[in-house]
Amino acid sequence: MSANIETAAATPRPVMGLYDRGFWDSVRERRMALQKCAHCGAFRYPPGPTCPECLSTEYAWTPVAGGGEIMSWTVFHRGYLPAYPPPYNVMVVRLDEGPFMVSNLTGSEPNGHSIGQRVRLCYETMPDGAILPRFELEGGQ
Ligand SMILES: [Zn+2]
Repeated sequence: MSANIETAAATPRPVMGLYDRGFWDSVRERRMALQKCAHCGAFRYPPGPTCPECLSTEYAWTPVAGGGEIMSWTVFHRGYLPAYPPPYNVMVVRLDEGPFMVSNLTGSEPNGHSIGQRVRLCYETMPDGAILPRFELEGGQ
């Protein structure tokens, strides 16, 4: 018995709640947008019904500039999903617009100096065509 290594594992599909479609549509278009409050201007993520700052329900999907800072990271050495074979890193980025996002560092591996480093949003096309928002070190270090 052998595994078929020619077949790429399917990327898990996003769970589409009431407020997620705008986010994933923008990622697919490679211009990631978050909800921006129409009342106070705060960006929010994950998507939701009200602004956490002022409780307004009015918002517009607004593209982010793409910059951020690594707040935390880890490397998983155990596989949980076939699409993400170990080892792989997971990190928390604080976007320049304010919200925190869980993603992956691509192009290099995090290390003891990673916290506080600047990163830039990029998009990775998975083997099955799914597009995911990822981050790379600013300046390609
Ligand atoms: Zn607000």
